[in-house]
Amino acid sequence: MNGESKIKINMKAPLKERKFWDVIVIGGGASGMMAAGTAAKRGKSVLLLEKNSTLGKKLLITGGGRCNVTNNKKDTRTLLSEYKGNDKFLFSAFSKFSVEDTLNFFNSRGVKTKEENEGRIFPASNKAEDIFNVLYKYLGESNVTIQSDSPVVSVTKEKEGEYFVVKVKKGETVFAKACVIATGGVARPETGSTGEGFTWLEKLGHTVIAPDLALIPIALKDKWPKKLSGLTLPDIKITTFLDDIKQEVHKGKILFTHVGLTGPTILNMSRDIGELLKYGSVKMEIDLFPHLDHGALRAQLQRLLVEQSNKKLKNVLSILIPGSVVGPLLELASIDGETFAHSVKTEDRKKLVDQMKSIFLSVKGLLSEDKAVVSSGGVELKEVNFKTMESRVVPQLYLIGDVLNVDRPSGGYSLQLCWTTGFVAGSNC
Ligand SMILES: Cc1cc2nc3c(=O)[nH]c(=O)nc-3n(C[C@H](O)[C@H](O)[C@H](O)COP(=O)(O)OP(=O)(O)OC[C@H]3O[C@@H](n4cnc5c(N)ncnc54)[C@H](O)[C@@H]3O)c2cc1C
Repeated sequence: MNGESKIKINMKAPLKERKFWDVIVIGGGASGMMAAGTAAKRGKSVLLLEKNSTLGKKLLITGGGRCNVTNNKKDTRTLLSEYKGNDKFLFSAFSKFSVEDTLNFFNSRGVKTKEENEGRIFPASNKAEDIFNVLYKYLGESNVTIQSDSPVVSVTKEKEGEYFVVKVKKGETVFAKACVIATGGVARPETGSTGEGFTWLEKLGHTVIAPDLALIPIALKDKWPKKLSGLTLPDIKITTFLDDIKQEVHKGKILFTHVGLTGPTILNMSRDIGELLKYGSVKMEIDLFPHLDHGALRAQLQRLLVEQSNKKLKNVLSILIPGSVVGPLLELASIDGETFAHSVKTEDRKKLVDQMKSIFLSVKGLLSEDKAVVSSGGVELKEVNFKTMESRVVPQLYLIGDVLNVDRPSGGYSLQLCWTTGFVAGSNC
């Protein structure tokens, strides 16, 4: 991580040097870094405990390493309509730290941003590391003490209820007036998010909805899509079928992997597909040309075949669709791509158009938590005061980021939740 070498932070201060803190933040991901820096800026003594040897492991892989940092819905009500029914809880926190505040936070610290499809905002550099570096610097400027390689094993409240007792695996114990739990969910456990926070929170009296994976790539039964691994189709229509009965229609971008499909549209469909799989076999129909009906596409293909009449069919098709799709498409339609354009029969042209408008894929299942992007589940929202992010069950305990049971789609909404809840907790703890 380049950023770490540039910024001097007390990464390995022995805990014994100081035992009592105003605030202990557990978890150095997006939300924990935001909360720790914000609390320390207010003059609080802050200890940030992280089990990994470095901070922000998950943040650095967000958006395929590009970090979809937020979504450009500046009107808070419009933004919150994406957080499926949780807007009534989230409104007070988001009115304190909005999308605009997020953009100001990063832009004013030197990160230029750009907007892509559906309002997704990324750093203009396409580097998640730039986002990480801002937060890392924020911790340094505000004098947060960071203790990495420190897995917390328990969080309890001392009998009289005045301070928290936080035990770290190596045997050290530290104490704080306020404690922020920012340990994340259970998606991508290799980044450190393994759900320990939920165990302590339950013991402290919170209700934890069992984590369930929410945004997950899809594995396919068909073998041929493997050949398309790495290919992105930016603008297609997908219709799902349960036992051949039509279910839902989605439009957007998909990405082929070596086992199936991913990309924003697929991730957002994954929960519903998981549900459908409980009841039968699931198929997906892909329309490569959602904006053209059969007639218009037939006319377009016909025009090309006339213009390029001395070329082979496979070469003409690659003007219309990505080259890697041509072979599989011809195979599915059982048509010889070596035929010259001038000799393609009417029935084959029709077959090709039908195939481009309707490629069926059979879903094998959802991939496991090591591939999921977010997990739903977490602490019941009614147990948190969203004006401050303080627990309504345990005073001075603050809950932020993926620890909360907030269902949301892909598109920058997860990180926005981290910035907002992290900032609000840091401002109040
Ligand atoms: C591949 C991938 C891509 C994603 N892309 C995007 C995107 O582009 N945009 C978006 O909005 N969202 C994205 N997300 C979701 C987003 O990354 C998460 O919602 C967000 O990072 C959660 O932050 P957090 O601070 O709550 O938790 P995490 O980032 O999970 O951080 C929790 C931290 O707590 C530490 N920890 C856990 N237990 C302990 C313990 N016992 N002791 C000490 N430390 C502990 C962990 O090591 C970890 O560092 C993506 C997720 C994945 C997996």
